Amino acid sequence: MKKETIAINTPYARTDAYGSLAVPIYTNVSFEFDNAEEMADAFCFRIKAPDYGRVANPTVSNLEQRVRQLTGAAHVTAFNSGMAAISGMLLTVSAQGKNIVTSQHLFGNTWALINGMSRFGVKPNLLDLTDLNAVEKAVDEQTCCIFLEIVTNPQQEVADIKALAEIAHRYGVPLIADSTAIPFTDTNMKELGVDFEVVSSTKYLSGGGTSLGGLIIDYGAFPDYTKRIKLDLLLNLGAYMTPHAAYMQTLGLETLNVRYQRQAANALWLAKAMREVEGIKKVTYIGLPDNPYHELAQRQFGPTAGAMLTIDLESKEACFSFLNRLKLIHRATNLFDNRTLAIHPASTIFGLFSEHQLEQMDVRQTTIRLSIGLEHPEDLLSDIKQALLA
Ligand SMILES: *Cc1c(COP(=O)(O)O)cnc(C)c1O
Repeated sequence: MKKETIAINTPYARTDAYGSLAVPIYTNVSFEFDNAEEMADAFCFRIKAPDYGRVANPTVSNLEQRVRQLTGAAHVTAFNSGMAAISGMLLTVSAQGKNIVTSQHLFGNTWALINGMSRFGVKPNLLDLTDLNAVEKAVDEQTCCIFLEIVTNPQQEVADIKALAEIAHRYGVPLIADSTAIPFTDTNMKELGVDFEVVSSTKYLSGGGTSLGGLIIDYGAFPDYTKRIKLDLLLNLGAYMTPHAAYMQTLGLETLNVRYQRQAANALWLAKAMREVEGIKKVTYIGLPDNPYHELAQRQFGPTAGAMLTIDLESKEACFSFLNRLKLIHRATNLFDNRTLAIHPASTIFGLFSEHQLEQMDVRQTTIRLSIGLEHPEDLLSDIKQALLA
């Protein structure tokens, strides 16, 4: 079956007592067993049956199962936020004395997490992942993983994933990719050599900005880490996705493909149109044919380029005035909501970083980030034009 069909038709594991067509939400904590033997088997993972809500839940399992079928992954584990999935993933692979090879260009909280891990003796090694010579030099026997974001936010830098996988695998360590920027239904990260995808399902999956969630999509190449994710993370850390969030995100997953195709098309239309608008100094979008990462992005991710783009205006003041005059587009963070959202990253998401850090991360005071929604793009363009006429 094709992905559109799988997203909607992955059957519920056990028939609901009432034959509910949509997946039921099980908010209970514990599950009863017919006998002690079965109970022992479930607790020791010899059989797959839910026992306690911190570790297993039928509503969450159904979402995991759908994502597993859509990606061809060996295992999928759902967490209660993207950061829970990312921090869990990095805890899984790291240990005192190890180093993490990654980019300067990271989601702000991931950047802070990786730098903060130095407190536990894990060395952050932040460099330019598009410079393969620098990566070669940085990776050593103590490296525990290479971690990247497939399209960095807000810089929209794209690294060569196959080449990074080749380096990581030569050292026997996993390549971990935060693939939040383009839905896993439109890409094939396994084929590119990615071992673990981490995803903020808060974004495309949720769609309407309805719920927080995160996923670890595990392609099964590192069985020891698989075990750690299933045992240590769920049992001992306790950041499993909540049943209600899993329900909201299952609804989101069912319509993901149509929403995403429209949002990506809207983003491309707007990116092209905004280049002709006076007052906009620069439009950055990997879907534009003259973007430096366009060719590599198409080769790695296929024809669509996501729904995040940035524009640069004259100054920070011009950005604030633009934001304040928007009437249709919402002043809000989040990505891939059904509504179009605008934010000034340097003063918000990255507002607590120093000027020096912002410079290192290439987060400029003149940049506005737009996440393009499902509105008609002509209405969005009109709003952008009137907001620039300050
Ligand atoms: C939003 C985001 C995260 C964090 O996800 P939460 O669900 O907000 O915890 C991580 N990485 C990227 C690329 C994101 O956009």
